Amino acid sequence: MTEVTMEKIISLCKRRGFIFQGSEIYGGLAGIYDFGPRGVELLNNLKREWWKANVYDQENAYGLDTGMFKHPRTWEASGHIGGFSDPLAECRNCNTRIRVDKALAEIGVNADEKMFEEDINTLFDQNRDKIKCPTCGKKDFSPVRKFNLLVKSNLGDFTGENIEPVYLPGEACQGIYLDYKNIVDSMNPKIPFSVVQIGKAFRNEISPRNFLFRTRELEQADTQTFVRPHENKEMYEAIKQNRWNWYLSLGIREKNLRWKQHERLVFYAADAWDIEYNFPALGFDEMEGVHDRTDYDLTQHQKFSGVDLRYIDQETGEKYIPWILETSVGMGRMFMAFMSDAYREDNLGGEMRVYLALHPALAPVKAAVFPLLKNKPELVEKAREVYLMLKKTTPQIMWDDNGNIGKRYRRQDEIGTPVCITIDFDTLGENPDLKDTVTVRDRDTGEQKRVTISELPMMLG
Ligand code: ATP
Repeated sequence: MTEVTMEKIISLCKRRGFIFQGSEIYGGLAGIYDFGPRGVELLNNLKREWWKANVYDQENAYGLDTGMFKHPRTWEASGHIGGFSDPLAECRNCNTRIRVDKALAEIGVNADEKMFEEDINTLFDQNRDKIKCPTCGKKDFSPVRKFNLLVKSNLGDFTGENIEPVYLPGEACQGIYLDYKNIVDSMNPKIPFSVVQIGKAFRNEISPRNFLFRTRELEQADTQTFVRPHENKEMYEAIKQNRWNWYLSLGIREKNLRWKQHERLVFYAADAWDIEYNFPALGFDEMEGVHDRTDYDLTQHQKFSGVDLRYIDQETGEKYIPWILETSVGMGRMFMAFMSDAYREDNLGGEMRVYLALHPALAPVKAAVFPLLKNKPELVEKAREVYLMLKKTTPQIMWDDNGNIGKRYRRQDEIGTPVCITIDFDTLGENPDLKDTVTVRDRDTGEQKRVTISELPMMLG
């Protein structure tokens, strides 16, 4: 059985152009990563599949792409200015900062970032003797201070004083609430309906770590489903089930997923569950949140904006603030889950290899086309013909004539290419029975079969 470690995933991501440390030539910037040529394809494939499931496969769902910057009142209404903070303590010996809720959780003490400063200080004081500084090992920390995670900008400020800063988004979903009225007025949706977007968020995380798990710049894929007040339960269960099934349908193994219900609900929430993934080095931890949020978000924005956000029910004639069921997943955590789940090592034909058993819909490259030998012009010419023909219908296709066939297979295996297509002398008619056929080699089994060129477009779907 393959042991999947964080080191192996990080190394593969760098070696094969999936993920790079942001600003690496300057020594890196903490909590920022870049998606390389293979990574951006996998990321876009994940987004496409997510969008398909949450917009195209639904009957009453509306996509959106809102501006990143929002009126500063947004973050007051949402509670982010007052309450979007993490509890931080600093080591008095070496100044390392720790996130206290996470440090307490590691020793089995139930705490979270939503606790009041005083309460988390009490819990921390009771457990100080068990919490070591991760850098110097001392147990001498400052009191706990709540630290706001919003990142400020100076957009539109020409005074230099920036009294009312425009924040970068702390979460992507606020854009959906701000445009809710525009969607209702322009699209005339019938309740229940959902509004869906993938957007960037920024968080001044105290200790960004564990690769893409906790970054300072992130992307969130959110759905907000608007339902009649108190008609939340059944729909909430259906949404939970949908999200779970989506992961399985794209190849995540069920043993690596589990549900976790929030023990400490924020005051307005009716229910909250996380889908946890069994991440390398971390174990089970939050990948996606599925939240039953009642009418809190729209009520707050109605209060702060003074705009009537009530929905007029076409069936009953009633006016009310809809309740919201939310799903929110970080694309980075999702990316890491799919990479880790697909990572395999095996022995193929006496040689150890690494391959990514990605679902074909997610694979960054759908097929690679090779001439058997690169110094035989007639093979190269035929292979180019096949490659260019396939590229018209399957753009995510790759040409490779570098090194011997074995090396080319290994390279494609490592990026999860489902099939490799080789043009050889039989393709050219050396064996007349095999003219215009190619070998197609399967990534997972290494098995090869001969297929006619005309069958290839259909095979790649
Ligand atoms: P955590 O408790 O791990 O800080 P959270 O509960 O604050 O996460 P939400 O605000 O519910 O997270 O955000 C929704 C999703 O966004 C999370 O489930 C996660 O996938 C992702 N996410 C949140 N913060 C980060 C981060 N700093 N880096 C990467 N992804 C993140």
